[in-house]
Amino acid sequence: MQIIFHVDNIEEYLRKDKEYNFPNPPDRCPHPDCKCKVKLKKHGFYYRYYLDGAVCIKITIRRYICPVCKKIISYLPEFCLPHFQYSFNMIVKSLKKTLIRTKTLSSIISDLKRNFPTILFSRRHIYFYTKRVISNLSFIIYGLRQIDPYIKTPKTGSEREKAREILDIISIVPLFSQRFYAYCQKSFLTSLT
Ligand SMILES: [Zn+2]
Repeated sequence: MQIIFHVDNIEEYLRKDKEYNFPNPPDRCPHPDCKCKVKLKKHGFYYRYYLDGAVCIKITIRRYICPVCKKIISYLPEFCLPHFQYSFNMIVKSLKKTLIRTKTLSSIISDLKRNFPTILFSRRHIYFYTKRVISNLSFIIYGLRQIDPYIKTPKTGSEREKAREILDIISIVPLFSQRFYAYCQKSFLTSLT
């Protein structure tokens, strides 16, 4: 589970890294099937990439664990989200290309560099996102169903094929509605974290 929190000074967040004064955990486990009034324990950190124009920054995310249900809560700084959305279309596009595999990964990357010269996009990012999308397919489908229960989601085929179909759905969404699109972005982006 993710808790989004406000950061006053992004520079400070990046500079202090693990020493940053992260928010205290809630005094009760936020997982709906637990909700125990218990002190959540610190549970290390994880890293995610934050694409900000020309710069790709690795940021540290604080985690807590519930000693009762053993589920993890991550504290995601809100500054990650709007900037990340900027590159949303690019991520979807590149993932689709990667999943279709009509081109080699190196030529996909050089295409991306040509089209988005200010953004650092490496082989590692593509692997990272492809893996994330594939391993979170059921979550993304769930998210899409919350928005439109009648949406046609893939039922057969390999995980790779399903992922490709899902990316097709996500990328045609803006044709229908801005709000729908925003929702899709949200459920898709959450699945990447
Ligand atoms: Zn719990």
